[in-house]
Amino acid sequence: MERIPEIYGKLVFNDRIMRDKLPGDVYKALRKTIKKGTHLELDVANAVAIAMKEWAVENGATHFTHWFQPMTGYTAEKHDSFISPTDDGQVIMEFSGKELVKGEPDASSFPSGGIRATFEARGYTAWDPSSPAFIKDGTLCIPTAFCSYTGEALDKKTPLLRSMDALSKEATRILNLLGNEEVESVTTTVGPEQEYFLIDKDDYAKRRDLIFTGRTLIGAPSPKGQEMDDHYFGALRPRVAAYMHDLDMELWKLGIPAKTKHNEVAPAQHELAPVFDTTNVAVDRNQLTMEIMKRVAQKHNFVCLLHEKPFAGINGSGKHNNWSMTTNTGANLLDPGKTPAENTQFLVFLAAVIKAVDEYADMMRLSVASAGNDHRLGANEAPPAIISIFLGDELTAVIDSIKNDTFFKKNDKVVMETGAAVIPHFTRDNTDRNRTSPFAFTGNKFEFRSLGSSASVATPNIVLNTAVADALSDFYEVLKDVPADELQSAVHDLIKDTFKKHERIIFNGNGYTDEWVREAERRGLYNLKSTPDVLPRFIDERNIRLFTKHGIFTETEIRSRYEILLENYCKTIHIEACTLREMIYHDFSPAVIRFMDSLSQSVISKKQISSLISTSAEERMLEKISAQYEALYVAVGKLEEAIARAEEMDDGLDLAQFYHDPVFRDMEKVRSIADGIEAYVPDEFLPYPTYSKILFYV
Ligand code: ADP
Ligand code: MG
Repeated sequence: MERIPEIYGKLVFNDRIMRDKLPGDVYKALRKTIKKGTHLELDVANAVAIAMKEWAVENGATHFTHWFQPMTGYTAEKHDSFISPTDDGQVIMEFSGKELVKGEPDASSFPSGGIRATFEARGYTAWDPSSPAFIKDGTLCIPTAFCSYTGEALDKKTPLLRSMDALSKEATRILNLLGNEEVESVTTTVGPEQEYFLIDKDDYAKRRDLIFTGRTLIGAPSPKGQEMDDHYFGALRPRVAAYMHDLDMELWKLGIPAKTKHNEVAPAQHELAPVFDTTNVAVDRNQLTMEIMKRVAQKHNFVCLLHEKPFAGINGSGKHNNWSMTTNTGANLLDPGKTPAENTQFLVFLAAVIKAVDEYADMMRLSVASAGNDHRLGANEAPPAIISIFLGDELTAVIDSIKNDTFFKKNDKVVMETGAAVIPHFTRDNTDRNRTSPFAFTGNKFEFRSLGSSASVATPNIVLNTAVADALSDFYEVLKDVPADELQSAVHDLIKDTFKKHERIIFNGNGYTDEWVREAERRGLYNLKSTPDVLPRFIDERNIRLFTKHGIFTETEIRSRYEILLENYCKTIHIEACTLREMIYHDFSPAVIRFMDSLSQSVISKKQISSLISTSAEERMLEKISAQYEALYVAVGKLEEAIARAEEMDDGLDLAQFYHDPVFRDMEKVRSIADGIEAYVPDEFLPYPTYSKILFYV
């Protein structure tokens, strides 16, 4: 077996390879572009292209592609081969700087929310040198941004890069003002923890709901769910362990630092966490990770489900977005150090994050909104839909002392006594974990926990970066003209005012309780429960101002994204509703009828033998199922009507609301009746596997 360090990053055109393969001046110019975002000259691009192609061909690549992230939430690629025929009937392998830097895919089949008229179908992809190229399936993949002919962003990378720039600019300005003059730039960092389900491929293939929608639309609960807490961190079953091993190998080859893996709370649920990266790279790598997870699963006769709620009644899957900011001099701006109360710089950035999350809580919620994630947020398994911040006892005490002008006394670290002599003593962390908070401080970073498992992590980071940039920009306005000898007290006042003004967003308690819902309402916090509830916040004037002020989105881009989100919600529910109807008529009903038939047969044949044999068990069961079956038929009829009405309606918010209620509500009604019937129907009658079979037989 090859050694891991030799495998690691084998398929990535990383810094080491660039240094090896590129002439010194070209390497330097490229590094400068990557580090500082400076313009790259064509001759440099040409030299990079040649080196990239040589390296790719040596490693078995025959094609290249501009790899980008359109608004579908997936990645897109169009492969071109390197071959170029020569006069003598041979080919040479060619790749130019122009091909590296720019591509021209037809943009007309990607969602654009009305930005791109069909007569200007052309779109552009542009190389992002800050995210390394890699080889996947014999194709050199070049991470690129994607925009329309008229320059509007049609992807998630472009606004993400813009938001990172905005944050860097504002953070650097503040740091310089605070006297930290050697800082030239600030990057945001992200470590996304990814949850997923693994189920057997044969089970998957028998369920149209999983195939068409990624989740089960009906299915009675299995006798055992997750209530015993025996799956979380449980020993890995051999088949799952083999999958995870293979997955790590594939990810490592692609230079993705997969670090932690374990079983999650729900049966058949697992998690993978990489070491954090620069946000932009982390986002690309998370997209790639999701793709590789699915692919490796196929090899092991599994299907990897990334949907937010594949099964009712047990936990769904999310993503935890661990986030911080680092200076080009290597300092983590959210590291409180040993004495947070005296660490002014830390407190300024902490205050900025608190202000940002409070002021743009609606956008934070919006950034994670999707039909799939609606099943989790607020369902006592993921954070509630109400955005709040958990700081932990120590930081809260620091903030209180600043607010009240009292002296903060740090608690000494508590040495843990486990009572067992062989176990080394260790000190206790300053913050306990709070699993119910949507946005928690975890020592030297914040963890945004509301993200759905299948979505790109780009949007939440765009919102977070921009909101924090905006808070820092407000701080700068307050401080910029303060004379040097008054700066310290002005900063103190600013921090104090900010904490006072935004303390309503801080909540260290249990987010799952009804008291919190009421308390949050008293505090005036948003409780935006569903996607149609939250989407209109995008085109709220304040939010448009936020994004346009910092150059993240133009108003046109915002409106187009709003349309895309609405459309996406409607299409998702539409497909689910149609799939449910089909599943009831084509799979479930025939099974129920066959079962009722066999009950009737039993009654008839028993009666033929002797009128003294009791048939009341069959009859009563038949009665019960028949009555429920009647109700099911009515409910599906109602659902069908709702679908038909939706199909007549015009696109827009009204339609999204209509899909939420009645369509989605009607689906739930159908489901609850069907699940009640399924509890009586023997497995052999059902043409697809039940929850018990899917979740407990891997
Ligand atoms: P949890 O206890 O929440 O399961 P893990 O240790 O599994 O946490 O994951 C924590 C994640 O946070 C990892 O991906 C880790 O690399 C990431 N992380 C650590 N420091 C930073 C940082 N400064 N910025 C962003 N992410 C970070
Ligand atoms: Mg976590």
